[in-house]
Amino acid sequence: MMRDISELEHVANEKLKEIYGSLDNVELPVNINKIVDHFELNTYVFDDPQWSHISGAWDREKNAIYINNNDSPRRQAFTLAHEIAHYCLHQDQKYDVLQRKNFPYTEETDDKEKEADAFAAALLMPRELVKNQWDMVPTVSAIASQFGVSSSTASYRLKSMGLIT
Ligand SMILES: [Zn+2]
Repeated sequence: MMRDISELEHVANEKLKEIYGSLDNVELPVNINKIVDHFELNTYVFDDPQWSHISGAWDREKNAIYINNNDSPRRQAFTLAHEIAHYCLHQDQKYDVLQRKNFPYTEETDDKEKEADAFAAALLMPRELVKNQWDMVPTVSAIASQFGVSSSTASYRLKSMGLIT
């Protein structure tokens, strides 16, 4: 069974606090590379037509995340956050391959993938910070640009927070 969103948000917030001291110190958009560095993960980009359907991958043993260089910077940030989610949440998992089409993961797929997407969205879009921004400008596009995510990621997060339907 998938872990509750509030539990995933709690873990994501704890990681942000480890890095920033307090959520009040988090500048937007969340600097995903700073989080990658905190966990001493190595990142490699790939640019190969053979792997154009893959957004990224992660290998625990090699401590490495692989990112598709043809994806937009916003998509790359989400992919990094998704792989960091597996690193933080799924101690028994050894690797992950993220297909580009699979976002957000739907009901029939693995709970771990849904958890990784929910955690990734919470890491890039902490609830309190989203609420503050939403109070000022309640549009998907404003949230997307403020948090440096795609509009589909922003919609997904706003839906999970019950701010849009
Ligand atoms: Zn995954």
